[in-house]
Amino acid sequence: MNIALTVLIILLAVVLFTAAFVLMRTMRFSQPLPTAEASEKLAVDEEAAAAHLGEALRCKTISFSEKQPASPESLLSLHEILEKNYPEVHKQLTLRKINEYSLLYTWQGSNPELDPVLLMAHQDVVPADPETLQMWEHPPFSGEIAEGYIWGRGALDIKNQLTAILESVENLLQSGFRPQRTVYLAFGHDEEIGGPQGAKVIARHLEEQGVRLAAVLDEGMPILQGSLPGVEIPVALVSNCEKGYLTLEFSTELEAGHASTPPKQTAIGILAQALARLEAHPMPGHPEKMSPLFQAIGGAAPLSTQMAFANLWLFKRAIHKKLSVQPTTSAAIRTTTAVTIFQGGVKDNILPRQAHAAANFRLLPGDSIRDVCDHVRKVMADERVQFKFMEGGAWEASPVSPTDNPAFKAMEETLHQIFGGIPVAPFMMLGATDSRHYAAIAENIYRFSPMMLQADDIKRVHGLNERISVEQLGNMVRFFTLLIQRWDEAEL
Ligand SMILES: [Zn+2]
Repeated sequence: MNIALTVLIILLAVVLFTAAFVLMRTMRFSQPLPTAEASEKLAVDEEAAAAHLGEALRCKTISFSEKQPASPESLLSLHEILEKNYPEVHKQLTLRKINEYSLLYTWQGSNPELDPVLLMAHQDVVPADPETLQMWEHPPFSGEIAEGYIWGRGALDIKNQLTAILESVENLLQSGFRPQRTVYLAFGHDEEIGGPQGAKVIARHLEEQGVRLAAVLDEGMPILQGSLPGVEIPVALVSNCEKGYLTLEFSTELEAGHASTPPKQTAIGILAQALARLEAHPMPGHPEKMSPLFQAIGGAAPLSTQMAFANLWLFKRAIHKKLSVQPTTSAAIRTTTAVTIFQGGVKDNILPRQAHAAANFRLLPGDSIRDVCDHVRKVMADERVQFKFMEGGAWEASPVSPTDNPAFKAMEETLHQIFGGIPVAPFMMLGATDSRHYAAIAENIYRFSPMMLQADDIKRVHGLNERISVEQLGNMVRFFTLLIQRWDEAEL
């Protein structure tokens, strides 16, 4: 046999073997889609829940900024409404007000051996942009119920969850349910400005009491349709981790001089060039972080996506390139860099003595604050550029909570019971939630809002015409009612 033919046969064998291997891995990768059918709807008084949410939306608990948190009057009026609408909760649970306005309810369980669970939401909302007020179909603090929706700032973020949790506990109390496992309800009053006086202090209080939490559920993504490329069915995006946060301040200082005899580079030029290098060299991407998501979505994802994620050994570079194009998918696989502030110069004919800038980083689990600083130093590679932490907080990415445990399984089963056989996929929150403050006392921390939305609805969060349908609010109440019971029985 001549050599060329032998080589050809060997090559062909390698190609065939590789193709078979890729296919086999693809077939093994995806879990079959859940086939569960939604069970008969749990009876919930949707009209009452909607009316209660409407009342809560009328309280202007607006966190404008750290210096201008939600007003005491607005928070106290919300507390009054909660007391009026949830009499059994206020009769049978212990309420502790933390820093006056944050609420921590304790529903004492009968078995002190069991670790408690915690359900969370927050009382504050972001402002409605005064310039777009006339573009709201129903005013943002009207709490109007119209066309099957409850309208207002906070309807999706996150007075809906606050209402649904209290509604479900009130219903359970009325039905005579008593938990074995203690249930905490924690509603901070300053999440939209980082939760320094609310969730952070509640978490410290629980830690001081020696509390260890079996599971935590905070606000998060909903069940979304049309949000993942090529995936048409709705997917429940349950977050089991969230990104960290860091802002670095940069400065360059040079001697002043006259603009008629400038050096080769001014402070502005030096800093601008260093920042351009920073933008050109993002932190490395990790497409494998999205693997569990696509594994859970299984056969509902396009075959090419399944094949690529099942065979990262072969397609990692290609996937990395593809995911890096869109800002949202790029943010899902790497620590992002956003240069957000640049200042320098005072007059057109004076050389600037200083230039200042800031860049905001959102850290992927696995990248530490130290890794980011090392990367920045290496990429900028200019001793004339100094940097330091900006005041106001930096935190590491959260630990990654497991998804193969009874706490997650209980959420999955509850979702199937209400919404039928939708995939429940682990997801990384790109933004921050109050739940990060509980990392020291809980391993199983999840973020999720149990309502079905269209991809377009996400724009309403912090945007115009925020609203939730009466039906989906009802589903949220159903979810918490069932989850509290499941978590009570599960071996957490
Ligand atoms: Zn929120």
